[in-house]
Amino acid sequence: MRPVQMVDLKQQYEHIKPEVDAAIHSVLDSCAFINGKPVSDFAAHLSAYTGSKHVVPCANGTDALQIALMSLGLQPGDEVITPSFTYIATTEVIALLRLKPVFVEVDTRTFCVSPEAIEKAITPKTRVIVPVHLYGQAADMEAIMHIAEKYNLYVVEDNAQAIGCDYTFSNGMKKKTGTIGTIGCTSFFPSKNLGCYGDGGAIFTNDDELAERLKIIANHGQKVRYYHDIVGCNSRLDTIQAAILNIKLKKLDEYIAARQKAAGYYNKAFAGYSKITTPFIAPYTNHVFHQYTLILNDVSRDGLNKYLADHQIPSMIYYPVPAHRQKMFETFGGGAYDLPQTDWLTQRVISLPIHTELDNEQLAFITQKVLEYINK
Ligand SMILES: *Cc1c(COP(=O)(O)O)cnc(C)c1O
Repeated sequence: MRPVQMVDLKQQYEHIKPEVDAAIHSVLDSCAFINGKPVSDFAAHLSAYTGSKHVVPCANGTDALQIALMSLGLQPGDEVITPSFTYIATTEVIALLRLKPVFVEVDTRTFCVSPEAIEKAITPKTRVIVPVHLYGQAADMEAIMHIAEKYNLYVVEDNAQAIGCDYTFSNGMKKKTGTIGTIGCTSFFPSKNLGCYGDGGAIFTNDDELAERLKIIANHGQKVRYYHDIVGCNSRLDTIQAAILNIKLKKLDEYIAARQKAAGYYNKAFAGYSKITTPFIAPYTNHVFHQYTLILNDVSRDGLNKYLADHQIPSMIYYPVPAHRQKMFETFGGGAYDLPQTDWLTQRVISLPIHTELDNEQLAFITQKVLEYINK
């Protein structure tokens, strides 16, 4: 059996090696390392894939979130509602821009931000809602967009974990996550569902003026070279990374299907065991399984983690400390929050290996070891 890894990038690369190597070499030959043709090609391809009118490539997913928030004309102290149960980048950029993160609960079934909790947290200073499509399934966007309209708020979707995911509205209309809010953000970190071989990110919007602003901000606030209208930053997707992404984007649906197949195997093997809760998929979304995350009921998580590690099976806790309990947010009043559902999940979640290269032999071994431990 091949060794089990959380993400098997090497094996995935082997399948596309000739194409990827040729694409990298063609960038080397062109020496157009910055803003070469593959970058604009990729933006066009991703726009076609997602249905987003504009795609602005940038250096990473954290920058995407930062640039998105910079484009909205916010003032220091304006409030941005975000789940606490997320990767730190979502919340960090809010604080970095001297905005005020307002941490709210997630739905314990979907792991995504609770629309009810959002509405309760709204004050006259609220300007933005940042839903996170955590682990690869959509937050309840119809409800969130409804709240945003009611209170006149912007919505910046953190789609770093859910590229390719479909959201279905109650009238049957489907949209890709990241294209529903005012702005969407994603990451091409290597382990993401659409990952490059370094850092990368992109910003989505259907708004022409915002798209222009996002491009200007990502380019030192300049539209005309050396004339800087607003304070921006330097955030570009490397041409080599774009060339790789052009190849991998064509495979994205296949990659998602492989992740869903592995998740299906896990679900079937774990069905009927009350000690593990398998991922719940809300009726308005499909799940692209960036992570396959279980909730453990009366099982020692450290014990399971160690038992699996003893059998060379990695497992991970995403994330061991919620944002409001991070030291970083002490001065932002993090300690004052009471988010019992977030704490509850933080103590019980465990993520198993999920990627495009898992075979049935590996899945049988992993599920056997998990069940061995919980039946002890
Ligand atoms: C990965 C990730 C980011 C940040 O992406 P980087 O490219 O690593 O900067 C932001 N939010 C979430 C939820 C993520 O998973």
